[in-house]
Amino acid sequence: MARNMQITFLGTSSGGGPSPSRNCSSLVANVIGDGTLWMVDCAEGTTRQFLTQPRGNGEETLRAHKVSKLFVTHMHADHVMGIVPFLRHILFPPTIVDGSEVHPPAKPPPRIEIYGPAGLRAFVRSILTMTLTKTADTYAVHELLTPQCSRTPCDAKSLHSSECPGLDFLCDDQGIWQALTVVRGRHGNTIVDAGPISHRDPCIGYIIREPHFPNRKIAILGDTYDASGIEPLLKSPPPSLLIHEATDACIPTSVDPKARRKDEKVRQNVLARGHSTPVMAGEFAKRVGAERLVLNHIGSRFAAPRQSKNGHDVRFAVIEEISRQASEAWGMGHAQVAFDFMRVNIPAPSIPAADVAVAEENVNEQVNASRRGSGGGKQQRGRGRRGRRNYSGRNEQSRNDGKGMRNQT
Ligand SMILES: [Zn+2]
Ligand SMILES: [Zn+2]
Repeated sequence: MARNMQITFLGTSSGGGPSPSRNCSSLVANVIGDGTLWMVDCAEGTTRQFLTQPRGNGEETLRAHKVSKLFVTHMHADHVMGIVPFLRHILFPPTIVDGSEVHPPAKPPPRIEIYGPAGLRAFVRSILTMTLTKTADTYAVHELLTPQCSRTPCDAKSLHSSECPGLDFLCDDQGIWQALTVVRGRHGNTIVDAGPISHRDPCIGYIIREPHFPNRKIAILGDTYDASGIEPLLKSPPPSLLIHEATDACIPTSVDPKARRKDEKVRQNVLARGHSTPVMAGEFAKRVGAERLVLNHIGSRFAAPRQSKNGHDVRFAVIEEISRQASEAWGMGHAQVAFDFMRVNIPAPSIPAADVAVAEENVNEQVNASRRGSGGGKQQRGRGRRGRRNYSGRNEQSRNDGKGMRNQT
């Protein structure tokens, strides 16, 4: 029964990139166990990262068409500008017969579901429209809204021809979006929650978790200078893996003779732009008791080391220093600094099949109980929650509390 949850970083640069050694933000998670991939963020060039990935190293090749869900942390350009090219890559074009497009009488269910902040639906819709893009396959955008957000309509007149209606998720009183999706894979259920994190514009962190043994939990945060808003989702159990940004760092001249910026100056700059240093990432990891820590969204001035771990390569020394600073603040292990195509495995110990069956029987009960308990704000009470069949045929429960949004905003 043992299997790994696996994260592969496709782009690890901050918005100053891309650089020769790093693309901008994107990663994929293989967590269900059936080969499907869930992507978090999709910078310009992400599609090409699938095509240029290292091969022949014994690792499974990542295939773009295996991506069934995309979770977007925020609307900054270094996180979203690859979405439409990626959709064009994975959505099949219309059939042409005698020079004319032939469309089926009804739209097929979405080939990919996209989750993200307010504005994402209009962003994807308008670029597809302005680039005159038409596809036979379809997509849907589900927006994670706060009471202050405006709702983007999904009526037939507003939808793009490739678009299926999406859901609107309204956060609870703590600003949390619980159980955005519950997917039953080969080895049990996997749930995605989301919470707010502080950046200079609205930003979201995503939690992928198993509600049953072995209760693995992966926290993937977007850009942030203070992630305390998502802490309620990082308790009992703490994250097995925390992926936290570390955009800038003060590097001593003993490590890089060309580095001349003072610590206070770096900290001021990083806070002004809404980002974190490795020390800030380490301190947050310590506060939430993260079992593993990976730093990403690395400033473009910090190139990824060359493959040969040459002690004379200053790049290697700088990255080691970034890791050291985060590890010291964290105090629970060695923080890894992500590079493009780096893979991280979260293994699961083998458990007897009988125990798995019992655990899985309790899963729906736990999920329902957590939803009853989460309650949400006054605006959520009495709103319908509905189960639905997901588009790939697995059982999935989603919540759509957005029907009341018009009255809230
Ligand atoms: Zn960014
Ligand atoms: Zn940003």
